[in-house]
Amino acid sequence: MAFVYPPAQGPVLKVDACEQVFPVHRIYCIGRNYAAHAREMGHDPDREPPFFFQKAADDLTMSGIMHYPAETVDVHFEIEMVAALIEGGTRITPGDALAKVFGYGVGLDMTRRDLQGAAKKLGRPWDTGKSFADAAPCSGLVPISSCGHPQHGSITLDVNGERRQSGDLSQMIWSVAEQISELSRFFVLKPGDLIFTGTPAGVGPVQRGDQMVGEVEGVGRLEVEVV
Ligand code: MN
Repeated sequence: MAFVYPPAQGPVLKVDACEQVFPVHRIYCIGRNYAAHAREMGHDPDREPPFFFQKAADDLTMSGIMHYPAETVDVHFEIEMVAALIEGGTRITPGDALAKVFGYGVGLDMTRRDLQGAAKKLGRPWDTGKSFADAAPCSGLVPISSCGHPQHGSITLDVNGERRQSGDLSQMIWSVAEQISELSRFFVLKPGDLIFTGTPAGVGPVQRGDQMVGEVEGVGRLEVEVV
């Protein structure tokens, strides 16, 4: 069967120390998964069950460049550990969840905070705030054979050499296993799904020309320039 137009090849992530690449299916993101970040956004972290939103898979950028998006004057960084699934499923128990993980990476959940804030006030979807070209800069993946399942370790973001975000993976309210389990209640998870696992406190704006350097201890490093 002929295609009406040539289909794009889907996005792929490099895999550390390996010639293979990881094809990406969907991007799920958890909201307010570190208590200090939930508080800085004006919420009580103790009373909220987990919630999720999605970015489009082609929001990923692996080039080290993020083009400043349109229709905003307030683009925020959110440094996050990214879990990459090699197996999917539904109704996955927390006990079975980590066996579905291929590896981990370092990602940025870039956010048009002004558009997200306006959407929140109006009770509208977050899509324009969260999903746009280059909204998901991401590092290559480290397979679990190299990094295991990191449950503690520092997660940081520097902008132009200044520390802006700092936390520890152990501060996650919902663990990676719990996130996979919860997502699988609502969605049919598939191989290639990425989960952005939440950001510590300190989110803030970037401008064109800024250099972001994110690190997750035991996983890796992500450098992104805003142009
Ligand atoms: Mn986030």
